[in-house]
Amino acid sequence: MLKMMIAFFKDFFKYRPQIKKQKAWMKKYIAKKGYALNPNWMMSTNLSIWLTEMEDTFGKRYCPCFEPSGNAELDKKMLCPCKFIDDEIEEYGTCHCALFGAGDLDQAGWKASNARLQAEYRVPLNLQNGVLDTRGMPLDKRRNLPVPDAMHQLKSALNNYSADELTMIVEREQEAINLGKIAAYRGFGYESEAGEDSYTVDLKLR
Ligand code: SF4
Repeated sequence: MLKMMIAFFKDFFKYRPQIKKQKAWMKKYIAKKGYALNPNWMMSTNLSIWLTEMEDTFGKRYCPCFEPSGNAELDKKMLCPCKFIDDEIEEYGTCHCALFGAGDLDQAGWKASNARLQAEYRVPLNLQNGVLDTRGMPLDKRRNLPVPDAMHQLKSALNNYSADELTMIVEREQEAINLGKIAAYRGFGYESEAGEDSYTVDLKLR
């Protein structure tokens, strides 16, 4: 927990101007739509940081909860605020990432959606002997993309990983390509190899 707090405040100071910019468009957006921004400051700030990282890594403001799919039509729909927001607010009270919610959502509603999101992402990883097999995660019913995806599994793994190298197994070529972009952004070494039904990515973390 302490490690996560330190990482959060490090990012908060690093991305302060970008967070301000993200929150400025969000405020305009919610005023226009009659929605609300997640009242948990840490949550909305973290999501602003992740949106900034998505822009820096992939070139566009993609949803912070899903890496780009490689399908141009779907990826366009996943630019934040995404095309799924109205439907998801109708179902959960908030969008998938719990960044935006219904204007009249109460504290209990926000809490329930934050808990739903955390339950989706805090799953046991298949990480053994330096190999993270990211396959087999459940699919989001609207985007047909895994939750958590390879990008988020990497983020979770790095929270508690101290070795210099990590091997990842991913199902789709696009996931291997995305890991290459993440590696370039974070300064990791990267090698990828296609197998029969998966891709193996070797990351040099240090
Ligand atoms: S789910 Fe929420 S945070 Fe993600 S793109 Fe849609 S509106 Fe943005």
